[in-house]
Parts: sequence; structure tokens; C-alpha cells
Amino acid sequence: MNYCRINLKPKKEESLLRFHPWVFSGAIQSIEGEPEEGELVEVYGQGNRFLGVGHYQIGSIAVRILSFQPRTIDAAFWEERIRVAFELRKALGLAGVPDNDTFRLIHGEGDGLPGLVVDVYAHTAVMQAHAVGMHVARQQIADALKVVMSDELKNIYYKSEATLPFKANLDNEDGYLYGGEAEDIATENGLKFYVDWLKGQKTGFFVDQRENRSLLEKYSKNRSVLNMFCYTGGFSFYAMRGGANVVHSVDSSAKAIALTNRNVELNFPGDARHEAFAEDAFKYLERMGSNYDLIILDPPAFAKHKNVLRNALQGYRKLNAIAFEKIKPGGIIFTFSCSQVVSKENFRLAVFSAAAQSGRNVRILHQMTQPADHPVNIYHPEGEYLKGLVLYVE
Ligand code: SAH
Repeated sequence: MNYCRINLKPKKEESLLRFHPWVFSGAIQSIEGEPEEGELVEVYGQGNRFLGVGHYQIGSIAVRILSFQPRTIDAAFWEERIRVAFELRKALGLAGVPDNDTFRLIHGEGDGLPGLVVDVYAHTAVMQAHAVGMHVARQQIADALKVVMSDELKNIYYKSEATLPFKANLDNEDGYLYGGEAEDIATENGLKFYVDWLKGQKTGFFVDQRENRSLLEKYSKNRSVLNMFCYTGGFSFYAMRGGANVVHSVDSSAKAIALTNRNVELNFPGDARHEAFAEDAFKYLERMGSNYDLIILDPPAFAKHKNVLRNALQGYRKLNAIAFEKIKPGGIIFTFSCSQVVSKENFRLAVFSAAAQSGRNVRILHQMTQPADHPVNIYHPEGEYLKGLVLYVE
């Protein structure tokens, strides 16, 4: 190891001693050497105490720790971490099974790799760096992915243009690091879908709703379903398989609607139960009637930062209030928030006040979260972001 060294101010080492993987810039007393963005550094506390080795970056989070033990971050390191993650996905029954080839392989801090996300779609891994260090190490990571997954992996697409902070002049074009002749159909719980990692949102699909979609399937029989914020239509094809009478998918993005229609065709060709609308959520909710008895509300993150929290909570309240007002008696609402800064309690409060406003009797049937391939590192509770409620409305 021959890394630059960062010394922390007195008392600033506590979070690292509790294995929280971030060092904030305000905690740094001195930097020995001149590390570049994304370079590996060692972090020390008082009395020359080694605290960890990680990626350096200019910004509020100055170091993301990769190891709390002194070690060289080399090919063996990446292979080891990725292998642990892959074995976990196999143990969860998500990888190497016939009816599912879609899963999150690496969930950042939750898999001991802060700033890295890897989603797998059939034989393609889509890799996203949220930290400069992961960008710098991308080829090494891709090589390790290939070693660990061997023949199961044919393509690695790197997609970080939108996720990296840009102060450093990084040469960060999106593109294939491996392969490139990618088929674009993946399978989730036996349902097929096209994934557009080139132009789609995030890595191309929202892998995190898999279990919540499965739960929805069980409630869909003979219901009229509204899938609001449908994106690629995930919830819609589960509702159809579950025996829904009618399924309407709505998203403001015309591209998302086109993809939803293709996905429905892929699974239920010519099925007239489904119809999709490219329209703003609030406009649609205002003009729709009261015919739905199963409504999904899965909006984009209303709050990306703490200072817009109040507006976000208003947004959730307003959105849910219309659903409570219009859903048929005996109806069921699946409502979500994927904003990390909105706590479970705050989200609940927003939904409760929407329910109260409608004056209807509402019961919680299920409380949902992210699935096990999006694990939360117990020392990094910030990794928990998805929350949802299944509500029964009289
Ligand atoms: N439920 C989806 C994921 C939703 S992501 C799934 O299971 O995959 C959020 C979606 O909301 C995006 O597709 C985005 O295009 C859409 N969206 C954002 N603002 C919107 C608005 N005002 N009205 C309708 N859709 C909107």
C-alpha cells in the first residue's frame, strides 16, 4: 500500500469506529500528499490510529471507505466483494434460477462498495458510479464482474453520465466496457420486459419493486387497476397475470408509455384489458372517474434534498388525497415513496393526513420496503430509501 494519508480532527473518528463508511470534508485536519479525485487514500485518527482505506473525492463526502482493515485495493479485493454479493443473490433465489434473471448485484454501501450500483438484466450488467473513485476503478470492477460471473455475463454497460458530480474533468462517456451485442429482454418472476439501458431512466428498469409487484398480483383478481407513474409498466403486467379486469398505465413520459405497451405485448399479446396514457399524473387523477378499485402510486423522488422536504410531503399528501377520494369502496391503494430524505414516519404522516382529508375509513394491510437485493448496511442506515403502504379503503 502506498496511498496518500488523511488525518482527522480530534473526535471526528467516532463514526468510522462505528463502521459508517463516509468521511465528511469538515472532519479532515490535514491531507498528506495531493490525492486526485477518485484516488485511494488512508484515513487516520488520533494517535496514528488506522481507520480505513477508501476513495477520495472533492465535496461534502470526502472519503468513502472500502475497507476498515489495512489492505491493498486490487483485483482480488473487487473480486472478493463482488463474489460475496453474487453468492447472496444466489442464496436469495434471484440469480441462477429459471424464472428470474433480473436483480441488483451491487447496492452501494449495502454491499460494502460505496458509490457503486450494478443491476443485472439477463446476460448484461449495467454499472453506475455515484462516486469518482468507482469511475476511476470502472475497468477493474468490470474485469472482476467478468471473473465472478463468468459465462453468465456477456455484456457490461457503464452508465454514469448523469450520476457523477462534475468538478473533476473525467472522461466519463457511457458505453460498453465489455461485449456490446446485447439482447434486451430480461425476466422478472417469469414476466418478460425490454430494458433500455441506453436511453431509459436509471439503469433501465426499477428492480426494487419486484416483491411489491408480486404482492400486487395477489390483489388484482377482478379489479380495475390504475398504475400511476408506470414507467416500463412493471406493476401492470403483474396485475394482468393476477387476473385484473382492466389495467390502465399512466406516465408523463411518452417513451415510458411506448415501452409499457411493448412490454404488455411481450407478455399478453393482443390483450384488450390494458390501455396506456401519456399524461401528467395530477391531470389524469383530476379528470378520471371513480371506477378504479386498485391504485398504484409510485412517483419519482419528490425530494432529492432535505431542504425541499416540506414541498415533497405536500406532494405526497396531495397525490394520495385524490386517490383516497376517488377509489371505489373496498378499494386498495399501493402507495410509495423512494425519496431517501423522506423518512418512513414522515411518509406515513403525509398519507395519514390525506386519508383523514377524505374522511374515509382506511386500514394498513402491508408495510413495504426495498427487497433483499437492495440490502441496508446496518452501519449506514441512509441506505434504506423505499417505503410503501398497502391500504384498504372502505
Ligand atoms: N412504477 C415504476 C417506476 C416509477 S419511476 C416501476 O415499477 O418501474 C417514476 C415515473 O414517474 C417515471 O417513469 C416518470 O416518467 C414518471 N413521472 C414523473 N413525473 C410525472 C408526472 N408529473 N406525471 C406522470 N408521471 C410522471
